[in-house]
Amino acid sequence: MDLTAGSNVPLISMALNENPSGHSPTLLASISNQAADLSRYPDGDCYALKQTISQKFGVVTSQIAVGNGTDDLLDLAARSHLSPNRSALFCRFGFTAYRKVTELAGARCIKIPENGWETDLNKIANSVAADTSVIFLSNPSNPAPGYFTEASFVAFLNQVPSSVLIVLDEAYVEFVEPHRRIKSIAIARDRPNLLVLRTFSKAYGLAGLRLGFGVGSEATIRKINAIRQPFSIGTVSQLAGIAALNDDRFIEDTRARNRDGMDQLVGGLGGLGYEVIRSCANFILLQSHQADKIQKFLATRGIAVRSLASYGLPDALRITVGLELQNSALLNHLAEARRLESQ
Ligand SMILES: *Cc1c(COP(=O)(O)O)cnc(C)c1O
Repeated sequence: MDLTAGSNVPLISMALNENPSGHSPTLLASISNQAADLSRYPDGDCYALKQTISQKFGVVTSQIAVGNGTDDLLDLAARSHLSPNRSALFCRFGFTAYRKVTELAGARCIKIPENGWETDLNKIANSVAADTSVIFLSNPSNPAPGYFTEASFVAFLNQVPSSVLIVLDEAYVEFVEPHRRIKSIAIARDRPNLLVLRTFSKAYGLAGLRLGFGVGSEATIRKINAIRQPFSIGTVSQLAGIAALNDDRFIEDTRARNRDGMDQLVGGLGGLGYEVIRSCANFILLQSHQADKIQKFLATRGIAVRSLASYGLPDALRITVGLELQNSALLNHLAEARRLESQ
């Protein structure tokens, strides 16, 4: 594929919160060394991958489900816990998949406005209806750049009836400094109504692979596995997941690179007079009445950023933190746009 063919083809993607550093450098060698026989069906139980997750996160394999991306696990959680006479609660600016999987399960969506950009846990707990079966939360959240603490989350868990499944989507947790993280997997070990979801698509840099996992009670995991396609996780994905989990160094480097890149973007955009909001994940929000114009301008310069108009946020762009040179390129183009504006 010739990426330089059209002048409007984005060359730098800062739109989908992927890892611009790629994935663990040892991953492909590790997979090919395993000499996977692709003429055979994959292990439907993901035994070796679950063993790795079990040892790394301190949870028994009967409390682990593996999905074809976290989107798959969201869908499985919805279809196993929701039906046409039930409802699911989530944030107004929550991840779009929550609405989609709720609607696909035929259930009713109840959207709770954020408090500023923060997930309003109190309002969510107080909005649980008689027919509510699931609450979807992401922390760090996306695209709203919110983050809640362990203390507020535990208080929330104590407020919500145990009949409601709480799905805590931690797609971006690896970007959070370790001391600020919720001990979510430890909590899920003994909270029957908590399901924690993780993905390999963001910090692990494997969005193209489609792999995620969930930790919950044995009963929840059984319900999810009961409706899962038996061979939904390919052999290559299972091997890659193991290799990725064995490279802590890559994740630490990614977190450090992301932190520096976020400082660079926030500082640079602030210096140009833009209103920017940090997240605890790998993106920032740029707030401007010119959001649409800025996005189109950047596209002509080969940089893709995410419009949030479809989320009902026409005045915001979500920009994934890139590599240093990518961030500089974006800042240089926007500095030029500022000069053109003021002429
Ligand atoms: C990216 C993302 C996911 C991950 O989805 P995959 O299907 O694993 O790629 C899940 N939740 C949120 C909030 C995300 O931003």
